[in-house]
Amino acid sequence: MNLYRKLLLAQAPLALALAIVGVVSVVVISFLGSHSQTILKDNYRSVLAAQRMKEAVERMDSAALFIVAGERQKGVEQAEKNRPIFEAELKVQEGNITEAGEKEFTEGLRQAWTDYQAKFDRLLKGATAEEARQLYFSELEGAFLRVKVSADEILAINQDAMVRKSDAVRRTAERMNTITLIVALIALVLGLFISTLLTRCMLQPPSALSEATHRIGEGNFDTRAHVRGSDELAQLARDFNAMAARLAEYRKSSLGELLQAHLSMQAAIDSLPDPVVIFAVGGELQNVNQAAQTLLGLSSETGAKEPLKGVDASVRNVLERMRSHVLSGKGAYHPRGFEDAVKLPTILGDRYFLPRAAPVYETRGVVVGATVILQDVTRLRRFEELKNDLVATVAHEFRTPLTSLRMAVHLCMEQVAGPLTDKQAELLHAAREDCDRLQAMVDDLLDLSRIESGRIELFPLPTAASTLIESAVEEHRAEAEEAGVKLSVDLPLPEVRVLADHERIGHVFSNLIGNALRYTPKEGAVRLSAQVSDHGVRFTVADTGKGIPREYQERIFEKFFRVPDSGPRGTGLGLYIAREIIIGHGGEIGVESEPGQGSTFWFTLRTAEQPAAKGDRR
Ligand code: ADP
Repeated sequence: MNLYRKLLLAQAPLALALAIVGVVSVVVISFLGSHSQTILKDNYRSVLAAQRMKEAVERMDSAALFIVAGERQKGVEQAEKNRPIFEAELKVQEGNITEAGEKEFTEGLRQAWTDYQAKFDRLLKGATAEEARQLYFSELEGAFLRVKVSADEILAINQDAMVRKSDAVRRTAERMNTITLIVALIALVLGLFISTLLTRCMLQPPSALSEATHRIGEGNFDTRAHVRGSDELAQLARDFNAMAARLAEYRKSSLGELLQAHLSMQAAIDSLPDPVVIFAVGGELQNVNQAAQTLLGLSSETGAKEPLKGVDASVRNVLERMRSHVLSGKGAYHPRGFEDAVKLPTILGDRYFLPRAAPVYETRGVVVGATVILQDVTRLRRFEELKNDLVATVAHEFRTPLTSLRMAVHLCMEQVAGPLTDKQAELLHAAREDCDRLQAMVDDLLDLSRIESGRIELFPLPTAASTLIESAVEEHRAEAEEAGVKLSVDLPLPEVRVLADHERIGHVFSNLIGNALRYTPKEGAVRLSAQVSDHGVRFTVADTGKGIPREYQERIFEKFFRVPDSGPRGTGLGLYIAREIIIGHGGEIGVESEPGQGSTFWFTLRTAEQPAAKGDRR
């Protein structure tokens, strides 16, 4: 049965109740109607006949009086007119005997009437008025009164019956009213009850569907909507169940895939020899690999409150730093060099780890976690130390013979060992230049080894900014003239004092001005300046040279880095050493350069009045 028919069926009990009430009402009304008709048929006709007979007999009586009074003609006419009326009505009455005792009264009336007629006929035949008068008063009047009384008796019996029957009809009507009311009530209640029952039955499928939908929404994909039948709702439930089954299948397969992906990822990170730690966005541990568990003693089961509990203090600091760096939205963290490595004492000796961190993004690009990898650089560090040691030893060992060599070349050029030919002087000049370069290189390498071993010592003292610039210019004036480059200072210089190790800052200037002169063609210009800034004093060395390609601008401060095609001279250490010195002073260093337009190197130093910032390296 389809939904439309079911809806109709649900209304049917009410319609049936209405029909029952209607039928009962019709029956009651027709019953009452037939009762009234019975009264009319049975008694009213007799009442009418009795009254008409009474009237006719009275007219007959007055006709007799007319005859007695000598008006024979008039009396005879009136009697002739009323006699058949009486006869007809008596016949009607004789055919309509309905009440007990009425038959006897009617027979009595018939007799009285027959008697009255016989006497009336005798009156008609009477020859004189006197005879007529005697007959009337002696016989006819008495017969008339008997007829009238008999008619009255019939009238009374029928009127009584009418009153009785009308009372009975009224009582029946009242009873019928009550019955109709009760039937109507019962039909209505039953109709409503059955209608409600059917409607509830009909609403069962939608509520089953709604409940099943709710359960599926909660993730219970095994739920099904149980609806029997063949209507549209049952069809909908079948479609719904098919959809739920497909969803369950899909979830099973996607869960399986997810599980597989998770296992693969876990296997991948477990196979890494370096510790990997993944933090959730709230800072708690989300995952750690095997290496992190064995080397750092971490476990993702660790409580959310203190996820890094039990980890070595230095490693914990680094992990926390990485975590807050990434989770605060600063992006990935890349170590600057081995100096960022963190030491972890183990039973096999100290190990060094270089931290790297990267954010974990969800699909909309929001950071939802941080991955930290501690790269084990113990062996690389050992190599680095060995290399530094070697460089330091070689540089150190070079110094004494180099000094002797320079001295010997100098003495030869001074012709202490005898006069020189032009050719000899030229060769010695070239040798001296190479000795100077070698010396600069050895000095750089020694500085590098000092920096690497943390042995570089700075003695910052309040020094006028102008003094630093003027002595740097003075030192390079001759070199600039030789190179054909104009070396100038932007005036006025600020009259402030900065905290500077004069010799080391002189070294920084030396490097920046030396580079500027080296990479600026003849007729170019190198300008020095100093301005007071938020961070102290900002010194700049600007040239009009060839500039630095953008992709190398970040890297030129790295150790041993040289821009390709920078010429044969140089070690790539100058800017690295300058940066270390400036950082050691608590300042910053950088470059702004436009290839082909020149470069502007800048660094900052704190003024003598400024307090030292946290984390300065001295
Ligand atoms: P180097 O000993 O090679 O000069 P530095 O560390 O001093 O080493 O400089 C690194 C690189 O930066 C150089 O090889 C050079 O290519 C580039 N450089 C430095 N200063 C300048 C400058 N003023 N103009 C153009 N390039 C420069």
